[in-house]
Amino acid sequence: MFSIFNSQQEYYSCEWLEYGIHFSPFGLEPCCMYVPDANYGSMFVPLKSGEYNLSDFYKIKKKIIEQHKKGYINSNCIKCYNLKKIYWEKSSCIKHIVLDLNYKCNADCIYCFTHKNKYKYNKIVGVPVLDILKKMIKRGTIKPDCEIHISGGEPTLNCEFEEIIKLFLKNNFNNIRIYSSGLEYSEIISTALHHNACKLIISTDSGDRILLKKIKNIDLYDKLWENIQKYCNSQESDKTGVWLKYIIIPNINDNIDAINNFLLKVKEANGKFIVIEIERVWYNCNRKNDMEMKRILKLVKYIQIKSQNIGFEHDLFPSCIYAIDDYHSIYDSLEIEI
Ligand code: SF4
Ligand code: SF4
Repeated sequence: MFSIFNSQQEYYSCEWLEYGIHFSPFGLEPCCMYVPDANYGSMFVPLKSGEYNLSDFYKIKKKIIEQHKKGYINSNCIKCYNLKKIYWEKSSCIKHIVLDLNYKCNADCIYCFTHKNKYKYNKIVGVPVLDILKKMIKRGTIKPDCEIHISGGEPTLNCEFEEIIKLFLKNNFNNIRIYSSGLEYSEIISTALHHNACKLIISTDSGDRILLKKIKNIDLYDKLWENIQKYCNSQESDKTGVWLKYIIIPNINDNIDAINNFLLKVKEANGKFIVIEIERVWYNCNRKNDMEMKRILKLVKYIQIKSQNIGFEHDLFPSCIYAIDDYHSIYDSLEIEI
């Protein structure tokens, strides 16, 4: 651990450490952030007799927060870009949930943590979570405005997926984000989109058949874009629940042609909303590299301007937001030719 300061009031923490919970197939932790050189064991609560151990989770979280208040930052968090020093409101409510329902996936993205051993990860099925969610809703630990991220792996491959979405819909949750490969069409996702209860985030990262195969190791280009179009059409014309993501992956899709192909394909599929992210592991390792960050930020700005010109809305994922914050004067001065 590493001591930064001694204040009891403002202290280093983050939204996830304070109000978050990440259900993984192996146990619980406050967040799902990958940070270089982090010691993950220090905030992880493994399954107990094959089940989630909520009481130990709350104890460990409380202990870490108390240490942060004293200036001892958990080794997990030291290099994390989410860490900030402010006054944190005390709350026993969970405001952010990540449900990694399983690690099995029908894609094999080169930037995914499962890529290093796909065979192993594809055998990791989830732990039942439906009953715990029911209890948390009943006790008021999670409320309808709670931000819920459902991912994995591919969440639609989990046997509880449909029931989980039905539970949230029945209880009027409307801040749900489902991260899917998009390769299996799901009727319950379309229903949730139709009710404006969820955002569906699909990272295609390309609009080009060959590049898609290179990034995701799958040959299902037509099926993917057909599914995306079906999802886009399941909403009323002015709604933007389908978020099509472009993760800028240095040395893979960090060029204007690849970006233009992506934007064209989004338009063809009737998409209206795009999301931009810088590949997180690369960003965490290169965020102080001025030359590389300037090059990547130029692409971010290009996507923003070009997508606005086409008529899309767009959003930035945290790595982009932090990069623009860190390099705001450079970013503001970048001149972009469209
Ligand atoms: S690793 Fe980052 S996101 Fe996770 S609890 Fe620490 S500061 Fe928050
Ligand atoms: S779709 Fe998501 S879970 Fe599946 S391999 Fe790609 S990043 Fe990993």
